[in-house]
Amino acid sequence: MTESHPALTTSAFAGATSAGNPHFILEHTFGYTEFRGDQEAIISTLVAGDDALVLMPTGGGKSLCYQIPALARPGCGIVISPLIALMQDQVEALRAAGVSAAFLNSSLGFDEAQQIESRLLRGELELLYLAPERLLQPRTLDLLERAELSLFAIDEAHCVSQWGHDFRADYLQLSCLHQRFPEVPRVALTATADQRTRREIARRLDLESARHFVSSFDRPNIQYRIAPKNNPKRQLLQFLNTEQQGNAGVIYCLSRGKVESTAEWLQQQGFNALPYHAGLAAQVRAEHQRRFLREEGVIMVATIAFGMGIDKPDVRFVAHLDLPKSIEAYYQETGRAGRDGEPATALLLYGLEDVVKLSQMAAMSEGSEEHKRQERQRLDAMLGLCEITSCRRRALLRYFEEELAADCGNCDTCLEAPATWDATDAARKLMSAIYRSGQRFGAAHVIDVLRGADTEKVRQFGHDKLSTYGIGTDMSANEWRAITRQLVVRGYLRVNAEAFNALQLTEQCRPVLRGEEALQLRTLPKTPSTRATKRDTRAGDASAEVSVQEQPLWDALRALRKSLAEERGVPPYVVFHDATLREMLSARPRNTTEMLAISGIGDSKLAKFGEPFLALLREFEGELSDHA
Ligand code: ADP
Ligand code: ZN
Repeated sequence: MTESHPALTTSAFAGATSAGNPHFILEHTFGYTEFRGDQEAIISTLVAGDDALVLMPTGGGKSLCYQIPALARPGCGIVISPLIALMQDQVEALRAAGVSAAFLNSSLGFDEAQQIESRLLRGELELLYLAPERLLQPRTLDLLERAELSLFAIDEAHCVSQWGHDFRADYLQLSCLHQRFPEVPRVALTATADQRTRREIARRLDLESARHFVSSFDRPNIQYRIAPKNNPKRQLLQFLNTEQQGNAGVIYCLSRGKVESTAEWLQQQGFNALPYHAGLAAQVRAEHQRRFLREEGVIMVATIAFGMGIDKPDVRFVAHLDLPKSIEAYYQETGRAGRDGEPATALLLYGLEDVVKLSQMAAMSEGSEEHKRQERQRLDAMLGLCEITSCRRRALLRYFEEELAADCGNCDTCLEAPATWDATDAARKLMSAIYRSGQRFGAAHVIDVLRGADTEKVRQFGHDKLSTYGIGTDMSANEWRAITRQLVVRGYLRVNAEAFNALQLTEQCRPVLRGEEALQLRTLPKTPSTRATKRDTRAGDASAEVSVQEQPLWDALRALRKSLAEERGVPPYVVFHDATLREMLSARPRNTTEMLAISGIGDSKLAKFGEPFLALLREFEGELSDHA
């Protein structure tokens, strides 16, 4: 711990020039000591009045890239953000840091809006958040023309992409900003990694000549794990109980029905779980989102309708109970975990039924043949990621044209090399069972035939007379499903969505059937998640690092944060992030100088929250003196 806080000494003698200096703002307003990655270069570009296009993964620190130049330049920074519901939280977080920020949207009454407009015109605002539809109203554009503006920040810029699922027609018109406000620098920001979207943003927002900043899309603090479904409820329960006690997380399901039933089941198991999907009434959705943000340890069970712009920094896990449609979607959804840079886990459980369901959806989806072909390709890439036996992160990043120098050491295949077995014989049994029953039946029936089951369907089609009847009794139905799934993913088998999901052989089967090719497949884990017990507690559970002696103080720090947040009607992380509390726990600051040295505490937060936290720490000082 440093004796004196360098920023404090600077501030004592600071003139007007240092107050407008980006580094000074970083320390005093936001309480951080160093810029991350491209932040400094992006900020200088904007401060110099030039445009920028910023691609940075979720949690990379995009907000500071426009907040600091808005503070450093004269005038008000205009932030265009698609999500009205989240503006309030962003503005509250800025106010807690002592920034004069506001938002204008339809949730405000006439008088309130009027007040904000006049504050803007009087030059009293440093940052103003607007939804695109509001910005584009002629009235608003006129208003902005009369104000002094420092910059335009276009957040979630991938909303201009007509190919993505977040498309907003209003975003297309944002190119008008360039014509109307040629002297105001613009920055567009997104966490979408793929090249096509990037080019589209540059073209549509007239940012082709802007400086482009493309960060690495790696999220090293997220542990990626993909496991075959064998008993999803038990797998999920074990994951939550052994690794994620008391943590906030998101569980994605494909259908609304499954969202509801999963949330209900988790509630019965004693978890603080809430459903979220587009079929719920708007107030219910808003309330659930509010609780997710404000309460601690809420599990949101949701369809993909939940997510974009969820700024909650301390989401400790994202679990998928169904297979996402593409790697892009998977990466975006898992990226919502661990924005605060603390360890987080992305867990995906997938099974044969997912493969069948999604193949069917791709085949039945509306649109041209070309569109279907692309959907199919995206799905195949996703399935490929599930079945690989090498580093998941390398494969993920390679998909986004980024090459990692080494295996990551923080994904399931790196942590525990997947076991494989010689499945040639089993695969041949399965292939001939499919072939002999005429390639007209789905997996369930084919597996019944292999396992010699006595079902009505077997008798009806006389399949108990087939030479393949009962030749697979040495393996469980679950094991047969795993083999089937892997053969589909690897292209040996096809699921015909136009014929009741019948399994069919492809050309690729020939060499296997002729005995010219051997097949190695992944071994099906016998019990769910043996991995979980092997992992150290570094990842996951936010309180995992807290020792038994420290626990009372840790709980007290969190309780104090909660009560301060409730008094102000803001989420706890607006007061302090977990990482800040954790640093307090280990550094035990005794005075304001030491408090300022904690990451995430700037001048304004020190003034607002410093005293109560110092008092609490003092209270515990005696009890913990043996600790030091
Ligand atoms: P993004 O919008 O890119 O997802 P945010 O702007 O929300 O990311 O930043 C993610 C987290 O990182 C926030 O908690 C933020 O306060 C923190 N952060 C950003 N820049 C820095 C920095 N230079 N030093 C320390 N923490 C930072
Ligand atoms: Zn890895």
